[in-house]
Amino acid sequence: MNEFEAGRPVVLRGGTVLPMDGRRVLPGTDVLVTGDRIAAVGPGLEAPDDALEIDASGGIVMPGMIDTHRHMWQTAVRGYGADWTLTQYFVWFYLEHGKLFRPEDVHAGNTLAAIESLDAGVTTVVDWSHGLRTPDHADAAADALQSVPGRYVLAYGNLHQRPAEWATAPEFRDFVRRRITGNDLLGFQMAFDVVGDPSFPEQPAFEVARDLGVSVTTHAGVWGATGDDSIRLMYEHGFMTPGTVYVHAASLSADSYHRIAATGGSISVSTESEQSAGQGYPPTYAVRAHGIPVSLSMDTSVWWSGDLFSAMRTTLGADRSREHLEAHAKGETVTHCALRADQVVDWATRGGARAIGRDDLGTVEPGKKADLVLIKNDASPVSFPLLNPFGHVAFQAQRGDVHTVLVNGRVVKHEHRLVGIDLAAARAGTERTVEYLRGEMGEEAWEKGMNPDIPTAKVLDNPYTYTDFRSDATHRL
Ligand SMILES: [Zn+2]
Repeated sequence: MNEFEAGRPVVLRGGTVLPMDGRRVLPGTDVLVTGDRIAAVGPGLEAPDDALEIDASGGIVMPGMIDTHRHMWQTAVRGYGADWTLTQYFVWFYLEHGKLFRPEDVHAGNTLAAIESLDAGVTTVVDWSHGLRTPDHADAAADALQSVPGRYVLAYGNLHQRPAEWATAPEFRDFVRRRITGNDLLGFQMAFDVVGDPSFPEQPAFEVARDLGVSVTTHAGVWGATGDDSIRLMYEHGFMTPGTVYVHAASLSADSYHRIAATGGSISVSTESEQSAGQGYPPTYAVRAHGIPVSLSMDTSVWWSGDLFSAMRTTLGADRSREHLEAHAKGETVTHCALRADQVVDWATRGGARAIGRDDLGTVEPGKKADLVLIKNDASPVSFPLLNPFGHVAFQAQRGDVHTVLVNGRVVKHEHRLVGIDLAAARAGTERTVEYLRGEMGEEAWEKGMNPDIPTAKVLDNPYTYTDFRSDATHRL
């Protein structure tokens, strides 16, 4: 029998379990998985004779993490836009080079992003797939997601047409009928933005989503792109529903937050993105004040990593930074942080499950789907002492510490190595895409796209320096 055969029971022995039903920590606890479910959680569990035994001692067992917004196709050009702003991103993907992507390029990006997620303990990703120009692109996206043993939600979008156009096209209906068949590992959403035009041209797309009974995910509160008018129009037309996911929601008034809170939607916070790209300040400080549910996301690996450890870390940092600065502005001092480590771990797990309407995910409890992560790295000096497990996950751990990952009861990573994944094929796919894009764009455009002009800045005059060695020059600051 294959050691990791799907359907084989698995027992994780003696880990520190974070069930994510509050702040509870269960040291020295076993987790038994049979079929696709968690069968039992407790000390000294009896397991079937054929169960795969995994020593979780010294490690942390937690639910698989859930990323509620990632443009997976863009992973094909990983890291290319490290120095971009949102403006450069829009030009590159929306106006110029994004349309070069062929179906096989979407496939390459999605495949690599899907594999990368599993490696980092992210067991579910919402693929905010807004490059689906043709049915072939859409099939390629879905094929890639189904070729990797993770859990994905295809959020269908097409930035090359107006939402009302692609969402009402027969090809779209046909795709939904053919590919979205209730498969537990491939969910579905519709992904489009509301531009704030008073005539509300997105209405037909919302109506299609309502007809299909699927949720809409939308970039909201993005400085210079979508704002309060977008929220108001959605509200006035009755399309703000509990399943709606508002991505970023960083440049919104209190009135918009009130509308989101009142209609039961949730906000997908991409802190690394908001910090670099310019949508607005990472909004958790404001969102918490309005009692709106939060999930975390990475947005795109054209800039950032695909792991939620960095999302948890930067979100804690950004929220606390804001809290301190707000207090300082009033001459006050924060003596107790409001946002705690366990809260960001909750957002990365249960928050994501809530956002995508999956109450069978996001916790470690009997009966729930067995999407699990074991964080354990005996070779690492960062693995001990393990005193504060939530703090350890948020501030100490990283993707290299992900020892074992299960999705739907199946082991997909074990002892730090992916199981049954063809990384060489994924590498070859992305190499072909990069070669093709470079060729189509030409070397000059390729280089320029990756290296935006740097604004010049003059070093400020400093009254304490007597030698004037820098004042004539302009510098990169
Ligand atoms: Zn996005």
